[in-house]
Amino acid sequence: MQFLPIFLDIKNQPCTVVGGGEVAARKVDVLLNSGGKVTVISPELCGALARQLDDGKIAHLLTHFAPEHLGQTVLVIAATDDRAVNAQVSELARARSLPVNVVDDPALCSFIMPSVVDRSPVIVAVSTGGSSPVLARLLRARLETLIPGAYGRLATMADSFRSKVKQHFSEPGQRRVFWEKVLQGPIAEMVYAGRESEAVKALEQAIEEGAPDAKPIGEVYLVGGGPGNPDLLTFRALRLMQQADVIVYDNLVTQPVLDMTRRDADRIFVGKQRANHAMRQEEINELLVKLAKEGKRVLRLKGGDPFIFGRGGEEIETLSANHIPFQVVPGITAASGVASYAGIPLTHRDYAQACVFVTGHLKDNTMDLDWDMLARPNQTVVIYMGLLGLPVLCQQLIAHGLTAETPAAIVQQGTTPSQRVVTGTLGNLPTLAAEAQLKPPTLIIVGKVVSLQGKLNWFVPDQAAEGNFAITRNN
Ligand code: SAH
Repeated sequence: MQFLPIFLDIKNQPCTVVGGGEVAARKVDVLLNSGGKVTVISPELCGALARQLDDGKIAHLLTHFAPEHLGQTVLVIAATDDRAVNAQVSELARARSLPVNVVDDPALCSFIMPSVVDRSPVIVAVSTGGSSPVLARLLRARLETLIPGAYGRLATMADSFRSKVKQHFSEPGQRRVFWEKVLQGPIAEMVYAGRESEAVKALEQAIEEGAPDAKPIGEVYLVGGGPGNPDLLTFRALRLMQQADVIVYDNLVTQPVLDMTRRDADRIFVGKQRANHAMRQEEINELLVKLAKEGKRVLRLKGGDPFIFGRGGEEIETLSANHIPFQVVPGITAASGVASYAGIPLTHRDYAQACVFVTGHLKDNTMDLDWDMLARPNQTVVIYMGLLGLPVLCQQLIAHGLTAETPAAIVQQGTTPSQRVVTGTLGNLPTLAAEAQLKPPTLIIVGKVVSLQGKLNWFVPDQAAEGNFAITRNN
């Protein structure tokens, strides 16, 4: 290793920062977050540091650097834009055996500062030895997505139970196994989901019983996979996708989203296609219960958001009736994702003050919708599952008062490389859509906001990547 990684306790210790610009301000923040008492030496201060001074958070010497400033300090950071000053600070600090960091100048440093993921008391520090701070930042960003926000709270809870666990399990090996199970199992998930008092109770019980899961209880994560592009997953979705033992997924889930799940997890396709249900809803509900009762962590992965036309509510009702722990992770719903990627704002101060989501399912060649409500002016109507019924939909909206010139769009496989946007009017969209031979899933958007599409259309689908995105079916 090129450096010794250590964590320094600077609580209430005097620290010196030479320089008063924005770079210095960022370093001051880190020192303050770690409890240091910071003195900034600089003839002037940037706005951020001036505010810190006003708030009484830092001390300030309004002067140029001089050797005597290093009399009372445990570490020094030089962040001026004058290399000669920085070099002088470095040399004097080293002569006094003071740790010194010079911003962007590894040769003048006796210590370097890592990129940090802060889940206090847990701290993850990443360094590339100064070779590429950008790489360290990128790696840090990846870790940010993987480490739950409540990791620190989990550590604090574990700390408060340490001596109790020690009393109950005298063998260090036993203790390790116990903690491994607690910190990776349902108790940890309770903390992440904000159910801390439940977690404390479960942990107390586990200690009494001598094991965290004498009878392993499984759990279900009902996760929204978004409209298809894996970039649009939430951090929480990604984390649960990577820890689940079994993945139960629909045909709206695209291959790249599915690829983000744990490699060795079992995968069960329960996709629904119009009139060709691979598995009935009741069977899916029962399957989730059965898998969880086997002690598995089950990821129920759905397209978009599980609570928007996703029957997520029904699935968790069955779980709740069977006392299976579950959590729900929202996803970006098709309306939101597809509209953004098509360049159609769903609301707009001038054109639409409301937005309605409906499903356009055909039943006996009609749609059972509140047409008067949908035909109101100054709103956007988003229709899910409406491709087959598009002609009926347009006719009915016109029959109930919207003009045939009302702008309307239909978007195929929005957010993915196969995205296609067809825009027109209620009068001609059915013909345009038929000519375009669109493939599902498609989303229909009706309202004046569609007229902005020509200007706001920013997303250029990467056709080269299209093959990777084939919607998963029957696999
Ligand atoms: N729960 C999902 C919706 C399920 S209903 C969500 O919140 O998005 C299925 C319908 O969603 C499809 O028929 C289609 O109308 C729409 N849809 C989902 N993903 C889509 C996409 N990438 N592009 C266009 N429409 C999509």
